Amino acid sequence: MRLTRLTIATAFVAALASACTPTHENTTDASNASPQLGSVRVEELPFGTSVRVKPGAGGMDVIELPFGSVLRSAIWPKPALDVCWENPGDVDPNYRTLVKQAVEDTWQKESKLRFGGWAQCQASSLGIHIRAADEGPHTKALGKYLDGRPEGMVLNFQFARWSQGCQQKKEFCIWAIAAHEFGHAIGFAHEQNRADAPFECQSERQGTNGDWNVTSYDEHSIMNYCNTTWNNDGHLSPRDIQAVTTIYGTP
Ligand SMILES: [Zn+2]
Repeated sequence: MRLTRLTIATAFVAALASACTPTHENTTDASNASPQLGSVRVEELPFGTSVRVKPGAGGMDVIELPFGSVLRSAIWPKPALDVCWENPGDVDPNYRTLVKQAVEDTWQKESKLRFGGWAQCQASSLGIHIRAADEGPHTKALGKYLDGRPEGMVLNFQFARWSQGCQQKKEFCIWAIAAHEFGHAIGFAHEQNRADAPFECQSERQGTNGDWNVTSYDEHSIMNYCNTTWNNDGHLSPRDIQAVTTIYGTP
């Protein structure tokens, strides 16, 4: 399936912008950061990988690997993540299956992460809570800050009041949006929020910034509103894959 550049992209941005809280502007250009020889340190990540980290401009750590912008404290400490539905009766079972497949064929396929459960949420349910509602899809936080949080992720399956263009391509939109939102659910911020994103892309900054940046900006990231292919057609870019592999280990 391929998505032409949809008008829904604009609606997507606008709706999300109203749904999430923008964070402060960071005008420092990390691409001009000069690496300090001798200040590079090796840090172990929870899933058996390690990265070389050096101080960058504006107090941002820069990792010597090209991967997306991540809120470091939001990285989940364990690979098994529970997912539950708050109002499954409001969603066609086929669409619920589609969301599960989108997550399994992207972030799970490329890492040690395993998303399980997918049943009705209970009050005590940990993990990622999905609520279906006809509004702009979003997450209330990044990564582990969603753990057990009511309405932590909102997904749209109706497209009557938001992004009506998706009604003609519901399966595609549901897939691509789910893959993007689950990127937030594992800690990824919007790629266009980066200080080294092109100026015209930074005008689309939205939501929480990452605090662990990279040397190389990814114009093809599924997390980038500035990607000329909306949500990268629901696929992870090579650098998205490198990112999730680095943080959450190889499958
Ligand atoms: Zn987003």
